Amino acid sequence: MSPSEQPITREAQDQLERLRQAIDAIDHDMVALLKERQEQVEKVLQLKKTHGLSVYHPAREENLISEKRRIGRAVGLDADYLEDIFRRILRQSRVEQTAQLARRGIRPGANVLMVGGCGAMGRYLYDWFGKSGYRMRCLDRDDWPQVGVLCQEADLAIISVPIASTPAVARRLGPHLPADCVLADVTSVKQAPLEAMLAAHPGPVVGLHPLFGPVTTTMDKQVVVATPGRSPKACQWLLDQFADWGAIVMTTPAEDHDDIMSIVQALRHFATFIFGRFLYEKRVRLDEALEYSSPIYRLEFGMVGRLFAQDAGLYSEIIFASPERRALLKEYLDCARSNLEMIANDDKAVFEKHFRQVAEWFDPFSRQALRESTYLIDKLIERF
Ligand code: NAD
Repeated sequence: MSPSEQPITREAQDQLERLRQAIDAIDHDMVALLKERQEQVEKVLQLKKTHGLSVYHPAREENLISEKRRIGRAVGLDADYLEDIFRRILRQSRVEQTAQLARRGIRPGANVLMVGGCGAMGRYLYDWFGKSGYRMRCLDRDDWPQVGVLCQEADLAIISVPIASTPAVARRLGPHLPADCVLADVTSVKQAPLEAMLAAHPGPVVGLHPLFGPVTTTMDKQVVVATPGRSPKACQWLLDQFADWGAIVMTTPAEDHDDIMSIVQALRHFATFIFGRFLYEKRVRLDEALEYSSPIYRLEFGMVGRLFAQDAGLYSEIIFASPERRALLKEYLDCARSNLEMIANDDKAVFEKHFRQVAEWFDPFSRQALRESTYLIDKLIERF
């Protein structure tokens, strides 16, 4: 008993016990209802399988969430709390459905050649296609003497080799592919590989960029960017396959992909690298820094740690992918340097003026960012 607690009467104790039992019974009912819900979801899944329907219907999900929020408010419950619970329930249904539908191939029995199939991403995709009923073949670095046999009657060839090697691999592979074989790649930059594939293979060509890594266990809501090359109709089944696995396929020209990825990936990773490198050079005591960090700072350190837990080669390839990217990173450092004078002059007024300019420009995203990051922090607190 804590010092502020009062001794409790027998009657109050009984009442408390009865209330606790009532809550336990409600929890029990909730579990039974979740089970019942899952059984209904199973029936929906069977129907979807029969009629070849997709798992994820963004509009239906958003309507459902809005409806739950409305009902929640009507009975005096916090709408955010209800939204949290229902998003988790919907995600569970989606993941279970996706896992089961993933066993279905859009073209089961088709021959798929995975070039670089012994690498991280190659192995990952080899597994996904393999478990969906495709006949898999792998061509890695030492298998070129067998390229002729491996390409025979191939319906799809996917190149998953280091970024800088993709164009040369496409040139080497192209002459061996059947005319109607779909040639695709998963390179994190798109323009140069797509041009090389188009030049090397006269048949259907499409560039892909999965915006996730091989540690992702589900493709649920993961984005795959598709950059059209040639004969989009002949390539469509490949995009449908990713959609069936739960991914969201976004089609965009290769040039636009590379422009936006320079910011989304290269610049962000580089800025994180600089931050990590600075901590290292200052020999900052990470354990102490983390101990004194509230969840938001922990999250930020977490994003830095996450980068350095991954493959240096992959990140150097993304960051150094093209002269344009390197020029952009130089501009970024020039921008950082341009703030030196303000720091040297202890000029808070300039800082605040610049801060407000950016804040105005970021709006309304900044309000959304505040909402989303608060959500992430809450999740972090719940779990750790
Ligand atoms: P990785 O280094 O793990 O694998 C590359 C594979 O290619 C290796 O097995 C290697 O032996 C093979 N290879 C190299 N040169 C070859 C050649 N000349 N012929 C045949 N095989 C050759 O790299 P990874 O992380 O799997 O990345 C592969 C591709 O996937 C890259 O283009 C990358 O941009 C893209 N990608 C990776 C990720 C990721 O998180 N790993 C995410 C999205 C896209």
